[in-house]
Amino acid sequence: MSIETSIIYTTSDGRSFDDRQEAETHEQWLTDEQEMSEADRQRGWIGRRRHHRFEQPLAEAERKRDAANKEINRLKPLVAGEKNIGKLIDICDDLFYFGREYLDSAKKMEAISQGLEAFDKLTPELEEENKDMDGHCQYRGAYTTKPCGDPTVEGTRFCQAHIDQWCIDCGRHATHDCDGFNGGYICGLPLCDKCQHTH
Ligand SMILES: [Zn+2]
Ligand SMILES: [Zn+2]
Ligand SMILES: [Zn+2]
Repeated sequence: MSIETSIIYTTSDGRSFDDRQEAETHEQWLTDEQEMSEADRQRGWIGRRRHHRFEQPLAEAERKRDAANKEINRLKPLVAGEKNIGKLIDICDDLFYFGREYLDSAKKMEAISQGLEAFDKLTPELEEENKDMDGHCQYRGAYTTKPCGDPTVEGTRFCQAHIDQWCIDCGRHATHDCDGFNGGYICGLPLCDKCQHTH
């Protein structure tokens, strides 16, 4: 006689798993997600943009550059000692690859750093021009001439849905969705008042 021993594991978001390991992995993911969104909330709208647009990509580029550098340092001494031409070519191929990766990442880091510097200089202006006006969101959607009107958040003139919208062209805070036509469809990408989107 067999006894039914299957146990259902329920995670804090109400999902069910019949594997304990899977349930634990999911629970950990939920915790990480919560911590990340809490950290984002505490950063504020300028801080969030700064983090996701600059700090995070900068750290990623740095990690890539350092990894490539490590490979380059490992490969360099092998070149002089290698007698086999075929193997030498393989080493040089790898050196070429990681050399490019190093230079590309370094270049990216420089560009992001410059962007970050410009963003930090712009911050007081951003705070000023996006100050709350009357507690109602001023963002204009693509299909309407009226502003959104929902309650504003974080001392800005934007609501929860529009607080993290940034101009695709210049990187200032967006004020509206692009209402231009893009291949028969309304474009809908976020823009600031200073920018025009050409399609
Ligand atoms: Zn809104
Ligand atoms: Zn713009
Ligand atoms: Zn557009």
